[in-house]
Amino acid sequence: MGEVRNLLIVGVGGQGVVLASDIVAAVCLRHGYDVKKSEVHGMAQRGGVVYSHLRYGPNVHSPLIERGRADALLALEWSEALRWLPYLRPGGVLVVDMVRSIPPIALRDRMTWKSAYPPMDVDQVRALQVEVCACNAGQLAEELGNRKVANTILLGILSNLLEFSQEEWEEALSAVVPPHTVDINLQAFRLGRSVHAERFTAGGIPVDLPPTYGVPRRFRVEIVEAWCKGCGICVRLCPEECLRLDSRERAKVGDPGRCTGCQICQLLCPDFAIAVHEEQVEEASIRG
Ligand code: SF4
Ligand code: SF4
Repeated sequence: MGEVRNLLIVGVGGQGVVLASDIVAAVCLRHGYDVKKSEVHGMAQRGGVVYSHLRYGPNVHSPLIERGRADALLALEWSEALRWLPYLRPGGVLVVDMVRSIPPIALRDRMTWKSAYPPMDVDQVRALQVEVCACNAGQLAEELGNRKVANTILLGILSNLLEFSQEEWEEALSAVVPPHTVDINLQAFRLGRSVHAERFTAGGIPVDLPPTYGVPRRFRVEIVEAWCKGCGICVRLCPEECLRLDSRERAKVGDPGRCTGCQICQLLCPDFAIAVHEEQVEEASIRG
């Protein structure tokens, strides 16, 4: 291969975008290619969007892929796939997990989690001259016994489209994933390779909404006063302005009804003084 190939891997925090990108980079290096990649990560705790640009070939000068130049887009989440679609070249391939994870950017009401989620219609994307390989990788990973290997199943599907041998893929994968997960990742990878043809989705996938969708959720913010040093981080960063410092410079919940349970205060308190708990929602109020 004389030219540079461009691969985009996208998803949300915690889905293993960076790990998948590391595995592809390791395969390319084993094959003797030059590889460059660029990624945004560190968003896992907040469910933020994560992406990785990866370019490989005999000689790669820049890690960034221009719009309309990606040969393949590996998407671990449907709405992220759509968001990055303009980066695919005409005739490019989209490998996508038909999983629905609402990114913060799509939320219209943080109290009820009502969102503006796009239709999950594979045929609409195919109409844009994109080859779509869609499967329910998350469900297949659960059937294997570990939801986290959905990314490796998608890599298995992608591997059928790239020039590397199965041996090269499996060597790279075994070298990159944590040692105690090698076996399950190899199973997931082989499953992805084998479902390449028969498990692709021809049409839209119906979305199963959770029973609490659209129902306000309630949260209780617990602050251990003895551990609070009054730094004010939680007060400044709470997006709903629920928290305040009292006259003794200790954090207090000022307006619990506004809390959306985002857990930013819990995650950012340097002294682990805050815990956010979800209160039980009455079943009758869900149905009603
Ligand atoms: S971030 Fe933690 S230590 Fe700082 S004011 Fe809030 S509860 Fe107290
Ligand atoms: S979880 Fe914490 S940061 Fe988030 S809204 Fe509630 S009090 Fe504010």
